Amino acid sequence: MSSSLKSKLINGPFDDPGLYIYFPLVNRAFLFDLGSINSLSIKEILRIKKIFISHTHIDHFCGFDHFLRIMLGHNKTVHIFGPDGILKNIEGKLSGYTWNLVEKYQQGLVLIVSEVGSKFIKTKKYLCRERFLSSDSFEQTAFKDVLVNESGIKVKTRILDHGISCLAFSIKERDFINIDKSALMKLKIMQGPWINDFKHALYTDKNQESIFVFSTKKIAAIHNINLF
Ligand SMILES: [Zn+2]
Repeated sequence: MSSSLKSKLINGPFDDPGLYIYFPLVNRAFLFDLGSINSLSIKEILRIKKIFISHTHIDHFCGFDHFLRIMLGHNKTVHIFGPDGILKNIEGKLSGYTWNLVEKYQQGLVLIVSEVGSKFIKTKKYLCRERFLSSDSFEQTAFKDVLVNESGIKVKTRILDHGISCLAFSIKERDFINIDKSALMKLKIMQGPWINDFKHALYTDKNQESIFVFSTKKIAAIHNINLF
C-alpha cells in the first residue's frame, strides 16, 4: 500500500505554523492552520479545498488575506473549519474590504465556514458575487468529531483548552490500492470495470467476503490480499 498524500510544513520551526497536505491523484490540497502562507506558490494555494484552523491567534490566521487575494476571481469553493468564534472572525476579515466590483467576476468564490463548538457545528456560506455578505441563514448540526470523511480521507477534531477554545486535528488516510496491470496480465485476467468493484469491495468492510470470478480464477476480496 502506498500513500495518496504528500505533506509539508509551510514555514520553519520558529515561524507561523501551517501544514500543507497535497493529494496528487485528485490535485487538491488541505491546509492546517492559516498563518503566513507566502511561501506557497499560487498553484499550491489554488489547490486548497479545505482549511482547518486550530484557533485565531494571529500566527494561525494572518494568512487569510493572502489566501483570499489569490482565490478571488476563481470559481472555487473552499470549506473552512474553525473553533468557536470563527464565523465572527471570518466576517470581520471579509468586512474589512470594499466589494462593490465583485459582481463583475464571471466566476465566483464561495467560502463555506463551519464553526465547531462543543455541542453544535454551525455552518454558513459566503459568496463572493454577493459581496461576502453574511446572511441570517445557517445550518446547524450536532457536534461530531469527524469533520471530513470522503475519498478515503478522514479528518477528526478534538476541542482543547488554549485559554480559548482550540481545535486539534488528525487526518487518517484509508489504505490506498493500486492494481498492478502487469500482474493481471501474468494471471491472464482481463482489465475491466470489475477493478473498481474489486477496489470498492476492499475499501468497504461490508464486502470483505465478496468473491470475484474470472473464468476458472477466483479472487476473494479480503484485506491484505497478495495477488497484486
Ligand atoms: Zn495560540
